[in-house]
Amino acid sequence: MIGGGPGGSHLSTLLAQKGLDVALFERESFPRFHIGESLLPASMPHLMETGFYKKLDSGKYIRKYGARFVDYRTDDEVYFGFDDSLRPEFPMAFEVLRSQFDKDLLEHAVECGVKLHQPERVKEVSFHDTHGVVKTSKGEYEATFIVDATGRDAFIGKQMKMRQMNRDLNNVAVFAHFTGVKRNPGKNAGDIIIGLLPERAWTWIIPFQGEHTSVGVVCSSDVFKGGTDLGEYLNRSLMSSPKMTEYMKDAERSSEVTVISNYSHTSESLVGDRWMLVGDAAVFLDPIFSSGVHVALSSARFASETLLKAFDRKLTLRQEGLNTEYEANVHRGVKRFHSLISLFYGDNFVAQMKKTLTLKNTRMAFTSAVAGDVWNEGNFIFQKNVL
Ligand SMILES: Cc1cc2nc3c(=O)[nH]c(=O)nc-3n(C[C@H](O)[C@H](O)[C@H](O)COP(=O)(O)OP(=O)(O)OC[C@H]3O[C@@H](n4cnc5c(N)ncnc54)[C@H](O)[C@@H]3O)c2cc1C
Repeated sequence: MIGGGPGGSHLSTLLAQKGLDVALFERESFPRFHIGESLLPASMPHLMETGFYKKLDSGKYIRKYGARFVDYRTDDEVYFGFDDSLRPEFPMAFEVLRSQFDKDLLEHAVECGVKLHQPERVKEVSFHDTHGVVKTSKGEYEATFIVDATGRDAFIGKQMKMRQMNRDLNNVAVFAHFTGVKRNPGKNAGDIIIGLLPERAWTWIIPFQGEHTSVGVVCSSDVFKGGTDLGEYLNRSLMSSPKMTEYMKDAERSSEVTVISNYSHTSESLVGDRWMLVGDAAVFLDPIFSSGVHVALSSARFASETLLKAFDRKLTLRQEGLNTEYEANVHRGVKRFHSLISLFYGDNFVAQMKKTLTLKNTRMAFTSAVAGDVWNEGNFIFQKNVL
C-alpha cells in the first residue's frame, strides 16, 4: 500500500483483518496537515465495519448533523438534516482535524496487523508476471499486488501517464483556521455551512471540537493571476455579505492562510494486472459536497473485495472481469456526486433545492445523496437518473 491517508489506511485494515500480509508505506511522519475535514454520514458504516468508529465517536470530534447551504447573494438558505434521509440509522457524521483523524486511522491499521513503514517514500514501482517491485527511500520490496493510495499525487497514474485532468473545474482553495467564528446553537454547532458567492465562488465553515473552525473560499484560479494577496482576498470574501459577516464578526485567524489548487482528475484506468488505484489517486472531485474521504473509503471497500477474490482464485486483477467490476463500482457513485456538483454550479441551487425539499420523498432522496449515500441503488433519484 502506497499512502497512509484514509484510502490506504482503510483498505490495509480491511485486508489485514481478513488475514492478508499488508505493508503500508507513508512518506510523512504523522500528525501532518491535510485538507478535507468534513466527513459524510454514509462513511460511518465503513468505519463501523473495521471497528474504528468507537475511536471516532470518543468525544474528540464534533458531531455533524446537517449541511446548510446559504446563497450569500440573496441571503436565501436551505438545510439538509441527515436524520431526514433514506437511511436515518446514520443521522450524522463528524468534522475532523485531518492531522489527528489520519493518525488515528493509521494507528488502527497497525493495531489490526498492518506493517507500517513510516516515514518511507516510494520512489519507483515496476511490474512483473507474478508480482510488483517497490523501490523506496530505504529499500526494495516485492508484493503480489501494489495499491496506489497516494492521493492527488497519483503516483502510479503519473508514472504511467494515465491521469486525465478536468480543466473546466480549474479552481483554487484559500483557507485558514480561526477562533471565534459564530456557531449554531446546541446539536447543530457542528453543521457545515457552505456559502455561494458571485462568479461560481463558494465558502466553507467547518467547526471543530473546541474553539477552532476551518474557513475557506474556493474560486477560479484566474482570480490570482494578477498577484492578489491571499489574506486580503480571504478577508474580503468572508466579509462580502451580511450573513457571512455575522458568522465572522468576532473571528480571529489562528493559522497561516494557505492556497491549494483543486483540479478534478481521474485516471484512464483504475486497475492493472498487479496494481490498483483507490481514493484521490483514482479520482478527485470538486470538494463542494465533502465527498473525498467517502470516495476514498468506498473505493477502498470495493478494492478489498477485488483483491480478496484475486487471492482466493489465484488471478491477476484483470482476469475474470475483476478490473471492470471494480471500475464500474467506483464510477457508479462518483458519477452521482458529479451530477450533484453540476447541480450546485448550475442556476439557483439554493432556491431549487428549497423547492425540492418541500416534498417528503424528494427531500429524503436528495438528503441521502448529500449525506453521501450515492451507492444506494434503492434511491429513486438514481433509479430514474435524476442524479
Ligand atoms: C479544498 C479542498 C477541500 C476538501 N474538503 C473535503 C472535505 O470537507 N471532506 C472530504 O471528505 N474531503 C475533502 N477534500 C478531499 C480530501 O482531501 C481527499 O479526498 C482525501 O484526503 C483523499 O484521501 P486519500 O487517502 O485518497 O489521499 P490522501 O488523504 O491525500 O493521502 C495520501 C497519502 O499518501 C502519501 N503519499 C503520497 N505520495 C507518496 C509516496 N510516493 N510514498 C509514500 N507515501 C506517499 C501522502 O503523504 C498522504 O499521506 C477536500 C479537498 C480539497 C482540495
